[in-house]
Parts: sequence; C-alpha cells; structure tokens
Amino acid sequence: MDVDALFADLQSARHRRALGRAITLVESNRTEDQAAAARLIALAERHPPARPTFRVGVSGTPGVGKSTFIEAFGLELVRRGHRLAVLAIDPTSSLSGGSILGDKTRMELLTREEAVYIRPSPNAGELGGVGPASRAAVLLCEAAGYDYLIVETVGVGQAEWQVHAMTDAFLLLAQPAAGDDLQGIKRGILELADHLVVNKADALPKEARLAAAELRRGLHLAPARPDGWTVEVATASALTGQGIPEVANRLETYRERLSAAIARRRQEQRTEWLREQLRRELLRRLDVYLKSRGWENDELRTHLDEYLTIPAAADVILADFLKSNRP
Ligand code: GDP
Repeated sequence: MDVDALFADLQSARHRRALGRAITLVESNRTEDQAAAARLIALAERHPPARPTFRVGVSGTPGVGKSTFIEAFGLELVRRGHRLAVLAIDPTSSLSGGSILGDKTRMELLTREEAVYIRPSPNAGELGGVGPASRAAVLLCEAAGYDYLIVETVGVGQAEWQVHAMTDAFLLLAQPAAGDDLQGIKRGILELADHLVVNKADALPKEARLAAAELRRGLHLAPARPDGWTVEVATASALTGQGIPEVANRLETYRERLSAAIARRRQEQRTEWLREQLRRELLRRLDVYLKSRGWENDELRTHLDEYLTIPAAADVILADFLKSNRP
C-alpha cells in the first residue's frame, strides 16, 4: 500500500474517502498492515494542524441522549464554521460482536453535512473500546483538516478515563432525574467533567432543574480545580435545541482558556499514549513467553506447589521472563 499517497489524499479535497481508509488501516489487527499503519501514524504526528484541534469527549449513560445531543451540538458547530469529526466509541461492540449504537439511525442530519465526518464505533476487540487505534484516529482526523473533534463514549467502564486522557474537554450528559447516586454517574467520573449538561429539559423541566441542583451540590464536594476553572451544570434539550448554543459558548470559553496550555496538554497526551503502548506491548510479549514456556499449564501448577504462594511464583516467572528478553 502506498501510505504516502494515502496521506496526501488525506490532506486534499479527497480527504473524506481517504480518512475512512486510513482509520480502517490503523484499526487493522492484521500483521501485514502494521508497518503501513505505523508509517501513517508517524506522518500524521509529523504534520500537526496549524491551529490545534479542539478535542471534546462526550459521555453519559446509555439513553441519556448522547447521539441526539451530538447531532444538535454538531449542527451548531457547523453553523459556526467548524469542520467536525465525530468518533463514536462503543465498549459493548467488542463483546457482543455488534454495536448497540449501530442499530438505530444516528445523527441523520449531521451525516448529511459536508463539513462533518462521522466514524462509528471502532471494533478493534479492545475491551473498553478505546485502544491505540482511537488515538491514531484522532490524529488522522486532525490531519484531514477537521478542527473540532468529538469523541463519544458510553458511560460504562474504563472508557471515560481513556477518553478524558485523549481529549481537551470532557462533557458529561446527565438524566433529568434526581437520585441518591446522581443517576448512576459513577464516583470519580463527575470530577472528570469540565462541563455538565442535564438533557431532556423540554420533557421534564422540573426534574432537570432538580438534577442540576443535585449535581452542583455533588461538584461542591469535590476539591477546587487547580486550573481555577468553574465547572457549570446547564440544562438543555438535544431534541428542541434549547440551551445548545450556550453549551457551545461555554466550551469555546474553555478552549480559549486552554489555548496557552494546549502544547503541554498534547505532550501529556503523547506520554499517556506511550505508557499505554508500553503496557500493551509488555503484556503481549508476556503472553508469548508464557505460551512458549508452557507456564500456563502444568509447569505453573508445579511451581505453585513448590512455592505455595502466587506472589512468589509470579516473582520467579517474571525474573525468567525478563532474563529471556535481555538482548
Ligand atoms: P444515547 O443512547 O445516549 O445516544 O441516547 P439517544 O440520543 O439515542 O437518545 C435516547 C432517547 O432519548 C431517544 O429516544 C431520543 O429521542 C431521546 N432524547 C434525546 N434527547 C432528548 C431531549 O432533549 N428531549 C427529549 N424529550 N428526548 C430526548
């Protein structure tokens, strides 16, 4: 495959088709695609956009209205002259083999916009859905000239942390119903949010206000942010569009505040990517080693009998693994 030609297409008027092919390439698990994928990522890394893309993570429990919101919010961004890429990350897809999000028609109006690129869930088999391919996809969208990026994730599991680590702003959508556990928003997730939106305020205005008040109380319990940013809780309706321009304004304010620190943020995101890559590669090599040595079967059991404790057995195995990897 001519990766340089593909990258050139990515930066040309033909970028839309090229972007689809490029993302498919970096998502590929096939050994023969790895070198081309690595070269493509290197090209994207070496050609960052002149003005950093604004990367926004959007999260919330299933049914809260994420896709409806992204459609309304995305149309607002297009009206403001942005070129928008949407990456949907669905952690269930790798488990069920099909996407729960893919079944329904999503973001129908947004799909028709010339300035918008929507990539449905990557299914790289990564538990949690966010893998190195997601990070690479972000870079590729930026290389293709999209200046605003939304990474959508379902509010379950590890995905939020990973999406938070690879984006610049984190937007959390909440249901208009109050409850002891802040409507299922997991502890720690609330603290990730840079902005909160209680959706469906058209249908349940009173409940939306109550939920917003409760979330504000929840936020007050968290320590003040070191960057001095005040996390606000808004109410909105993705269905009617009420409150959506205000959300866009608030995020624009956040983007402006962040602009001075964006280079450092990108550096942190790269470091985090590297750390992830190291962990993944280490685990892969460990698996290969365990299989080659037969540790997983009888030998491991013998070792366990010999040393009795799991930590002691792990120490021995690890020492041997490290020795076997020495150049
Ligand atoms: P997701 O699973 O978080 O992506 O949620 P969807 O966007 O698919 O929305 C789930 C349901 O809530 C759909 O039936 C939407 O039409 C509905 N919905 C989403 N946003 C709103 C809203 O602002 N108001 C009302 N009344 N319904 C909404």
